[in-house]
Amino acid sequence: MERGEDIAGRCLWCGQVHDDLRAMPHLRAYEGVVVPTHAPIRGCPEHTEHVHAYLVRVARNSRWTLLASVVAVLLVIGGGMAGVDVVIAAGMLVLGAGILRFPYCSPETVRRLGAVRAIQLARIIGVAVTVTAAGGLAYTILAA
Ligand SMILES: [Zn+2]
Repeated sequence: MERGEDIAGRCLWCGQVHDDLRAMPHLRAYEGVVVPTHAPIRGCPEHTEHVHAYLVRVARNSRWTLLASVVAVLLVIGGGMAGVDVVIAAGMLVLGAGILRFPYCSPETVRRLGAVRAIQLARIIGVAVTVTAAGGLAYTILAA
C-alpha cells in the first residue's frame, strides 16, 4: 500500500493512536441492522485482519443482538406494567445473556477504546447484569 494511504488516528481493534494506520474499505459485509461504521475504518497494519473479522462478526450478529435487546426491553416494560416481578427479572436475564453472547458496545465506544477493550467492557457489564438478574429472579421465585 502507498505511503499516502497511511492515516493518523486510533486503531479500531487495539485502540492505540498511531500515525501509520491503514485506511480500510467499507465493505458490504460490514453492514448490519446495527451499523458499526460511519467514520473511516482504520487499523494498525498488523490489526486490519482483526478489524475486518470483528466488523463482519458484529454485522452478521447484529439482528440477533437487536432482537435480544428488544425482547429484554419488552419483558422488563411488560413485567413492570403488569406488576409481575418475575417477568422483569427474566427480561434482565435475557438482557445479560444477550450482552454476554454478543459483547458489542456502541460504535462510539469501540472507536474510543478499540474493539478489544470494548468487548472486555461489554463482558463485565454482561456479567454484572446477569448476576443481578439471576439474583432478582431467585429472590422473586423464593419470596413468592
Ligand atoms: Zn491496532
